[in-house]
Amino acid sequence: MLNYRDSSIVFILIILGLMAYDYTYHVSGWYYFIAFFLFSLAIIFGSYFIQSGFFLKAYCSGDENKGQIAITFDDGPHENTSLILDVLKKNNATVAFFCIGKNIAGKENIVKSINDEGHIVSNHSFSHHNLFDFFSVKKLKQDVSKTDDLILRSTGKRNKLFRPPFGVTTPNIAQMVREMDYKVIGWNLRSYDTAIKDHDRLMKRILKGIKNGSLILLHDTTPGIEIVLQKVLDHARERNLKVVSIEDMFQINAYESV
Ligand SMILES: [Zn+2]
Repeated sequence: MLNYRDSSIVFILIILGLMAYDYTYHVSGWYYFIAFFLFSLAIIFGSYFIQSGFFLKAYCSGDENKGQIAITFDDGPHENTSLILDVLKKNNATVAFFCIGKNIAGKENIVKSINDEGHIVSNHSFSHHNLFDFFSVKKLKQDVSKTDDLILRSTGKRNKLFRPPFGVTTPNIAQMVREMDYKVIGWNLRSYDTAIKDHDRLMKRILKGIKNGSLILLHDTTPGIEIVLQKVLDHARERNLKVVSIEDMFQINAYESV
């Protein structure tokens, strides 16, 4: 797959090639424009699709031959999180919660419960700011470090996973990830549960998308998400797909070993 470094090199070579050719013959300005336009398109595509691996490597899909799926919840902790935990306990399933640091204040007990019940608590930034993708590397590191500290306080574990807000990646986020030594977790099945209000439509979308190796993205914040979760778990059982944690799916550690 094309990445940022390779496409930058290709872009520079094309521009240099055009300039060299232009030296002897005349090259229409349109060729420069088209090269610039395609490069910009690649950057936009790479930023918005975490699966593209354009700026950084993200774990997005499980092995297609193992009969496994994994479920993740973003944007908590939230009042719904306890309802989600009840459903998970009843079904003996393990998932990961990518928490927003600023939501943890006053809900430390929920974060503790997530960990106590065997699920993974990971970092989805502190601010989840609309301009997160435009933060400097220093500001990004300060932001995510605050959430790591809050997770440590509630669970006693030092987090090593990160999921970027909105799934958007940039060169700065890639550098922050390298410096923080995170593993980035994406998804390959986005439910759009925050946008699709009709549960039947939402279920249809998720169930249609579930396959061997699915990594499903849901949100704690979606009203009635515990009902959707129960249906997803029933469906997985019917199809003989085992719900595993992302640690098992990707053979990685969510926390620093002590
Ligand atoms: Zn989010």
